Amino acid sequence: MPSIRTRISFTYLLIAAIVLVLLGTLLSLEFERSLRERIVAELKTTSLVVHSFLLETAPKRAWMQETRKTLEIIASTTSIRITLIDGEGTVLFESAVPDSMKHLLANHLQRPEVQRALKRGEGTDVRMSETIGLEMMYHAHRVDPVQFEQSIFPRLRFIRSGIPLSEVNSHIATIRLKITIAAFLVFLVTLVASRIVARRVTDPIAKMSADVARIKAGEIDIRLPIQSDDEIAKLAELINEMTTKLRDDIAQLRKLERYRTEFLGNVSHELRTPIFSLKGYLETLLDGAIDDSTVRRSFLEKAYHHASRLDTLLNDLIEISRIESGQMKFSFRFFEVQPFLKEVIADHQHASQRKSQDLRCELPDEAPLVYGDRDRLRQALGNIIDNAIRYSPEGASIVVNAGRSDDTLVISVHDSGPGIDPIHLSRIFERFYRIDQDRSREAGGTGLGLAISKHIVEAHGQKIVVESTPGSGSTFSFHLRTS
Ligand code: ADP
Repeated sequence: MPSIRTRISFTYLLIAAIVLVLLGTLLSLEFERSLRERIVAELKTTSLVVHSFLLETAPKRAWMQETRKTLEIIASTTSIRITLIDGEGTVLFESAVPDSMKHLLANHLQRPEVQRALKRGEGTDVRMSETIGLEMMYHAHRVDPVQFEQSIFPRLRFIRSGIPLSEVNSHIATIRLKITIAAFLVFLVTLVASRIVARRVTDPIAKMSADVARIKAGEIDIRLPIQSDDEIAKLAELINEMTTKLRDDIAQLRKLERYRTEFLGNVSHELRTPIFSLKGYLETLLDGAIDDSTVRRSFLEKAYHHASRLDTLLNDLIEISRIESGQMKFSFRFFEVQPFLKEVIADHQHASQRKSQDLRCELPDEAPLVYGDRDRLRQALGNIIDNAIRYSPEGASIVVNAGRSDDTLVISVHDSGPGIDPIHLSRIFERFYRIDQDRSREAGGTGLGLAISKHIVEAHGQKIVVESTPGSGSTFSFHLRTS
């Protein structure tokens, strides 16, 4: 496929060539036609001049020689052949042939122009002259012989004038040459102009493709210049929009990549401690502690504790990755809130009792049905209650409350624990974020509980809110849609 530039130039040149050939042909045909018309007019005038002249000189028989002379002069000064013919076609006078040779001339009656003049009064014809062997144009003109009865040509019937076309043809050739030269010059100008126009169109495209090549090579921040509002500018705008989107996508990908690396780092870090401890206890046991009845049980218990921690951690990790990758399926339906809350409380009663805490539930007498995924909400609320139990001291009180708020039901968990410093409040829902690493681990936390709860509540179109005053406990709450 030839380049756009070549195609544009070629189209221009083709159009120019067609126009020029058509125009040139029309011009030269028109010129030829008008030239021929002019020549016919000239021939006619000459015939008329001869006609008048002969009428003038008609009575002066004695002046015949003079008459012939004058006719010859008219013929030579105008370069026009003059022939006088009688009604039978016999040539009475021929300016191109001396009088002495006149008898050699053929009968002219059948000459087309003579025939036409015979029928219509006048006639023209173009052909090779038998007499002088040149291409000639003739005009014949019929006269009334009665007028010439007294003249030197008493039988005169036709006055014919003729001119060699060689002159006309050379004239036409000159004009054709001029038209051709002019057309060629116009063609040259078109050639240059078409190159300029083509360049105007293709230069911005070439520049744009150079810029796009740079973008492709990684210079994603390049913006294509927009200098007009034509199609090319629109294309540039589209490319700019595309690179902006690409930049955003790349930023997003980098963020995800960072997130993934960070997640992997966190996970390995989380796994290392329990695995290390587990291995340590097992090694000690294998190295002989197994025979020491005083430490054996406690070491086995510790090993079990770390194995359980690993189990919890892996479960939470599986949960969070399922939620974050969108694989967790929710099944929403309406359910009664009272039995639900009682069930969640029952799940944690044992743990709270171990710390002599007062875990209770405050429910309205009549609560509407709530809409959500019961099992997932049990998990979300469970994590919050679990934290309240774990981070609050012995004897603390933990109250789970459900109350109406417009067309929703607010579920809240209030504890009388240590509270959370405002600087941590916005971050505790992040994965692996803990206010106090050691305390969290001691308390058996994975750092993922609140992150999981947040995702579950958000999947219900709601938000978890935390309010806390250090020293006087925390309240976690979220809304649920009701019937
Ligand atoms: P963890 O497994 O460490 O408990 P979470 O995501 O459940 O992880 O909680 C994040 C952090 O928020 C905890 O490490 C803890 O410091 C803090 N936190 C959560 N709930 C409470 C609470 N009821 N009282 C005080 N601090 C809390």
